[in-house]
Amino acid sequence: MYDGAVQDLIDELGRLPGVGPKSAQRIAFHLLGTDGIEVQRLADAITTVKEKVRFCETCGNVAESEQCRICADERRDQTVLCVVEEPKDVVAVERTREFRGRYHVLGGAIDPMNGVGPEELRIRQLLTRLGDGTITEVIIATDPNIEGEATATYLARMLVPLGITVSRLASGLPVGGDLEYADEVTLGRAFEGRRTVS
Ligand SMILES: [Zn+2]
Repeated sequence: MYDGAVQDLIDELGRLPGVGPKSAQRIAFHLLGTDGIEVQRLADAITTVKEKVRFCETCGNVAESEQCRICADERRDQTVLCVVEEPKDVVAVERTREFRGRYHVLGGAIDPMNGVGPEELRIRQLLTRLGDGTITEVIIATDPNIEGEATATYLARMLVPLGITVSRLASGLPVGGDLEYADEVTLGRAFEGRRTVS
C-alpha cells in the first residue's frame, strides 16, 4: 500500500501479537511523527532486550544472568514452587503478594491441536528440580482455559504419586482467559483458596 520503508515497518509491526493491519498502520504513522530521540529509545530497548535478556536456567523466567531475580533471592521459600505457563504469569502472581516461594515456567500449555505436547514444555526440567526433595509443595497456576486445565491435570497426575503436595488455584478466575488478565485481588483470592489435589 505504501512505498518502501513505511510499508516494511507496517509489515514488521503487523507480525507482532495482537497488532492487526490497522493498528500496525497507526503505530507506523505515530512513529513517523515522533521525534528521532524517542524512536531511537524504542529501537534501543528492542535491541537491548534481545542482547541482554535470556531465560533463567533454573525456572525459565526472564533473566539478565544465569538465574532470575527470584531464583537468586535467598529469602524466597525454597520448598514451595508455583508452576505457570509464561514469564508474564510470574509477574501476575508477584503482583498479588500472596506467594513467597519460587516459580517454574513451562513455556506454554499442552495444546495438541497446535502440536504442543508435554515434551515441548519444561516438564522434564520440573521433574529434575523436584528430584532432591527440597520442594514439598507445588501450586499449579496454569491459565483458566482448556489448555491450562489439560496441563494442570497432566501435572497433577504425574506429581501426586511422587508424594508432593499438589494444589490448584481456587475457581473464581475468569474462565477462558489468561492468568495475567485476572486482577490481583481475584488472583490473590484464588491463591489463598487453593485446593489440594489428591
Ligand atoms: Zn529463575
